[in-house]
Amino acid sequence: NDTFGHAAGDRLLRAVAERLRAFASSDVHLARLAGDEFAVLATGRAARDRHTLAVLASDIVEAIASPFAIDSMRLSIGVSIGIAVAPQNGSLEILRRADLALYRTKSEGRGGYCFYEAEMDERIEARRALSTDLRGALDRNEFLLHFQPIVTTDGRVVCFETLVRWRHPTRGFVSPAEFIPLAEETGIIIPMGEWILRQACTIATEWPSDISVAVNLSPIQFRHSDLPLLVRSALRDSGLAAPRLELEITESVFLEATPAIKATLAELREMGVSLSLDDFGTGYSSLSYLRRLAFNKIKIDQSFVKDLPHEQSGAAIVRAIIDLATSLKMTVIAEGVETEAQRRCLLNLGCHELQGYLFSRPVPAKEAEALASR
Ligand code: C2E
Ligand code: CA
Ligand code: CA
Ligand code: CA
Repeated sequence: NDTFGHAAGDRLLRAVAERLRAFASSDVHLARLAGDEFAVLATGRAARDRHTLAVLASDIVEAIASPFAIDSMRLSIGVSIGIAVAPQNGSLEILRRADLALYRTKSEGRGGYCFYEAEMDERIEARRALSTDLRGALDRNEFLLHFQPIVTTDGRVVCFETLVRWRHPTRGFVSPAEFIPLAEETGIIIPMGEWILRQACTIATEWPSDISVAVNLSPIQFRHSDLPLLVRSALRDSGLAAPRLELEITESVFLEATPAIKATLAELREMGVSLSLDDFGTGYSSLSYLRRLAFNKIKIDQSFVKDLPHEQSGAAIVRAIIDLATSLKMTVIAEGVETEAQRRCLLNLGCHELQGYLFSRPVPAKEAEALASR
């Protein structure tokens, strides 16, 4: 709708419905569920076995996949299908299961279809159990912080990025890539984020005063807490000077930069803390726009670094980002630097600071302190 207008969007949906209708028979029933979601109920011979259902699904995918002509545009759309077989007790359970299967198809990202499996419910159950554990983890002192150095072009440590770790009593270390999204969904990220920030500031006061500390902020912390108040209090209580604190924020926060978000950013900048844009290049914002939002640094996402120096287009993108950021007087950090070849390539492209396994993995506070005073 955003791209083509509502009228064209409606006509496209109607055209999709028209193609679906061709599948209707005494054994195949169709309904529009909501928005762009349709239900296909197969009974009798149409639901004889998995194979018959799979054939029906792939025929539907194929039928919808050929381009539509709407308002003299040729439009192609992707189709994702979830298939569930009615359990013995029937009921609405079939829709819930089909929905779970649909999510799986979508999350695999290529369209097509997949069948509901009991394992999908088990995964949901496992997530539920983990989020119950997560709720008590802060009180039980199960979180700890690791720090990964960020170095200048001549190898000097200028900053450490704070990376949280969860030592689960039975599962061992759980990756933040797994529990941060859970903490965000459940709101636990708010008290957890506060603990991380205060702890990181306190630990950083042990380092030489020319080394700063970077702390990741979740978009949720931006929207649902008084961030400037928290930051001010963390700085005051730890005694860390504001310029030694860098806050890392991902691009996604700014796709919907409201006046409130802009005001928060401005307030943080006035306090003298530094703002870094994390995972740059994975979203859709323009650099000049971000400059207006007062960022000091950008971190080029590791996915761009990974293909250096072999990938020509990758190097071109990295060069463009570095050139523009430099002209806007922003510092550019490349993350995920693993090889000497990548390091050399990034230095040639004019990158200012580097971070990655080539220099050090994230390490416990004690080891960070040793690296800091080397
Ligand atoms: P991120 O902010 O992009 O953090 C960088 C991730 O890349 C870290 O993974 C780090 O260990 C990893 N990394 C560093 N150097 C290399 C390298 O050379 N090669 C490769 N392959 N990876 C490297 P980690 O610690 O698992 O954290 C994953 C994500 O979890 C972070 O991505 C961040 O989004 C989130 N996260 C971690 N700690 C916190 C936190 O304290 N607060 C919040 N809100 N999010 C956090
Ligand atoms: Ca949809
Ligand atoms: Ca980060
Ligand atoms: Ca990152």
